[in-house]
Amino acid sequence: MQLSVPVRHIKVDFMTENAKPIQVTGIAGLPLIQEGDDIARLICDRIEILDDDILVIATTIIGKAKGYTKRLDQVQPSVQAIRIAEKTGENPCFIQVVLDNSVDLLLTYPFILSEISCGHIGVRAGIDASNIEEGKVILLPKDPMREAAEIRDAIHTCCGSCCSVIITDTCGRAFRRGQTGNAIGWSGIVAIRDFRGDTDLFGKRLEITEEAVVDEIAGFANFVMGESHAGIPAVIFRNCPKWQGHDNLYFNKEEDLIRNALGKKEN
Ligand code: GDP
Ligand code: MN
Ligand code: MN
Repeated sequence: MQLSVPVRHIKVDFMTENAKPIQVTGIAGLPLIQEGDDIARLICDRIEILDDDILVIATTIIGKAKGYTKRLDQVQPSVQAIRIAEKTGENPCFIQVVLDNSVDLLLTYPFILSEISCGHIGVRAGIDASNIEEGKVILLPKDPMREAAEIRDAIHTCCGSCCSVIITDTCGRAFRRGQTGNAIGWSGIVAIRDFRGDTDLFGKRLEITEEAVVDEIAGFANFVMGESHAGIPAVIFRNCPKWQGHDNLYFNKEEDLIRNALGKKEN
């Protein structure tokens, strides 16, 4: 499958000199990933990766390759898990895995919304029962930034390419229906393109605009992957303009108004 997405050649001062159309390619034909599989090798065997490409990988296959999975019949649910499961109508063993992988609970009803150790906040700690055998679940990596750096190094070792890597997960969002892809780990790029200090078309200085570029790329990659049986867990972006900024994607607790508002609510 090959999607080619032409962009208008908007002149941006830090756009790469070769203002070529951005090309987005879903990598089909990868096997069902098993624990121990070398994802970098499997990808490099199927597709050419160039320097400056951005390789986007679904967290699901990282979890399966690294063994970040759990069999629910091996889990003993706690009193807390049983109590939450009674309210949400879910399997208490599943709830226990969610609790075990959460460092802070923002909501427990009508679903668990929790923070995991890397700072990411997700519904049910981002734990998935889809695209894995019945009775097993896939966990998010504890350190997705390290996973992204590892894949990036492994790609370099396999094929010599200095690409960047984004690891994505499909996430729900506040205020709007529908899930989108979010970046949970990245390497070789910064998360946020910082527009502060730049000027708009009328010469006004931008004071607050920071663009979460890794999430935007993750969102489109997620669209190419789909959510079901397409079997496309990786996507390559070619000819993206470069950007500068920073990696502070997650709010500090003090700045996170929505989280603080949730904290005041009984749940
Ligand atoms: P998540 O967004 O990381 O939770 O992953 P999804 O379960 O939504 O899957 C994203 C894409 O990867 C879909 O196209 C799936 O069909 C595909 N996918 C998931 N697991 C595998 C696998 O083991 N092998 C292959 N080839 N594709 C997979
Ligand atoms: Mn997921
Ligand atoms: Mn998904």
